[in-house]
Amino acid sequence: MFGKGRHRGLAETIGVALISRYNTPPMDERDFFDENESLKPANLSCLFCHQSETYEIRWLVRTKKKALRGQTDERDRARFAKARSYMLRRDDFVQCKNPRCRKRFEISGVQSVVFL
Ligand SMILES: [Zn+2]
Repeated sequence: MFGKGRHRGLAETIGVALISRYNTPPMDERDFFDENESLKPANLSCLFCHQSETYEIRWLVRTKKKALRGQTDERDRARFAKARSYMLRRDDFVQCKNPRCRKRFEISGVQSVVFL
């Protein structure tokens, strides 16, 4: 039986072999997407005073490009074909809007990664 560590070692060896087979380094995932910051409203209730309010939460939106540019190889194209647009939540905390509370509370009940 292979241990977990051994498996990883094997995968790395294969990875190195694949990279050296191609002349270009693998494309960064960032090359697949256009990035934009976006604000989206979410209804949250404060953990301290339990008041529900709408808060604007910051997201990083990664929209898949229509086509890959620059030097690509079959590996990049296969990864690009599988890539999907998604959003990453940037804010972990919001400040309560209740003037008598104003505490910072952690955002819960909102996913941190959303596929589009
Ligand atoms: Zn509050």
